[in-house]
Amino acid sequence: MATLERGWQYLVTNFTDFQLASIGSFLLHESIFFLSGLPFIVLERLGLLNQYKIQSKMNTPAAQEKCITRLLLYHFCVNLPLMIVSYPVFRFMGMTSELPLPSWKVVVSQIVLYFILEDFIFYWGHRFLHTKWLYKHVHSVHHEYATPFGLTSEYAHPAEILFLGFATIVGPAITGPHLLTLWLWMSLRVLETVEAHCGYHFPWSLSKVFPIYGGADFHDYHHRLLYTKSGNYSSTFTYMDWLFGTDKGYRKLKSLKVDSKSS
Ligand SMILES: [Zn+2]
Ligand SMILES: [Zn+2]
Repeated sequence: MATLERGWQYLVTNFTDFQLASIGSFLLHESIFFLSGLPFIVLERLGLLNQYKIQSKMNTPAAQEKCITRLLLYHFCVNLPLMIVSYPVFRFMGMTSELPLPSWKVVVSQIVLYFILEDFIFYWGHRFLHTKWLYKHVHSVHHEYATPFGLTSEYAHPAEILFLGFATIVGPAITGPHLLTLWLWMSLRVLETVEAHCGYHFPWSLSKVFPIYGGADFHDYHHRLLYTKSGNYSSTFTYMDWLFGTDKGYRKLKSLKVDSKSS
């Protein structure tokens, strides 16, 4: 902890709050996103761990490259400006970068709350994005990749990026967290969405331990099916779809698989 505090002290003495919250958040986001997403492109290209790949279909190198170029463009032209303009909002809501760092209890409880809130907003927004007009003009971009591969998680229409950004910052905006908590939340959220789109269902996937967590198996189904039939609208958890009955197709398919294995 002392090392972390020393590191933090270095950051706050050498950079302004604004620089840390905007440029710092952007650099952290890019690093976590590409470092966690790129390995899945490598796995797919080399055909490694294919036994855990959810779909047999492969993405072409051209499709992967298109995704990366488009992402870089949107990250610089949409995400970065969004991080810059949301800084005053966070400031107003009480975000701080000062020492001492928050206790782990505060950090954990805030992040749990953010995940629950984000999942709730995402569920309804995402269901709305699956209505005819919005799907055709906005959300179909994200569904261009019916076989997701990690980096496709953030591949979306700019209007959808704004919605995703909104769902992500509602929690922090109403609780005014420490910048460290905000960075941790952002990192976990990125890792979660990359995992949900990674295209592989490993024996060590989190959803195997926590059935309430959706993960790749849950979200991959959403990408495979026709947009009116897909269901599984949540971002992180499975309970919203269960509560509102939008996971029926997925559950049915799962029980069929279990039946065919046992018979
Ligand atoms: Zn969708
Ligand atoms: Zn998706």
